Amino acid sequence: MPEELIRRNRDWAARIESDNPDFFPRLAALQKPDYFWIGCADARVPANVVAGLEPGEVFVHRNVANVVHASDLNLLSALQFAIEGLGIRKVIVCGHYGCGGVRAACSDHHGHGLVDHWIAPIRALRHSHKGELSSLTPAERENLLVELNVRAGVDRIAETPILQDAWAAGLPVAVHGMVYSLADGILSQLEGATRVA
Ligand SMILES: [Zn+2]
Repeated sequence: MPEELIRRNRDWAARIESDNPDFFPRLAALQKPDYFWIGCADARVPANVVAGLEPGEVFVHRNVANVVHASDLNLLSALQFAIEGLGIRKVIVCGHYGCGGVRAACSDHHGHGLVDHWIAPIRALRHSHKGELSSLTPAERENLLVELNVRAGVDRIAETPILQDAWAAGLPVAVHGMVYSLADGILSQLEGATRVA
């Protein structure tokens, strides 16, 4: 119910105002986040909350299963604005274990409508890593595919003209692959999944 959201909003705004009267005027005057977060649309993985950040501290793009499509104008325009407009130097691609989109990509059952098109790159990863994945249990396979999808996203971001131009101009932008665990709330950096100039 929208009324419920409005009531919760008023409570939240009043609480913030009383704890920190400077909060809204400061944020209204300037957006200066340190991070650009590309994550899953899953309701259990809100960037600010899981990274312990306040409003104003992270610029966010989310989609089903945090897929980086090289032709996604929504993501690319947000990425360009993050780097060139907001001056962000830390880009995070964050996946999460227990991701429904990745789970769907683990099977050949196509019953998810447009989502099946969206997650096609994850299915392609599953096929290209067949050997590695075949010796694992279904749960391990899903977790590895979550990580492979993040690594592919980091590489695809690094290959965009936006990042290539930023690096050519000497900007110290870093792209980090991370993964979040729904089971314990822990966010981890994926080893070897950082790209810098
Ligand atoms: Zn997900």
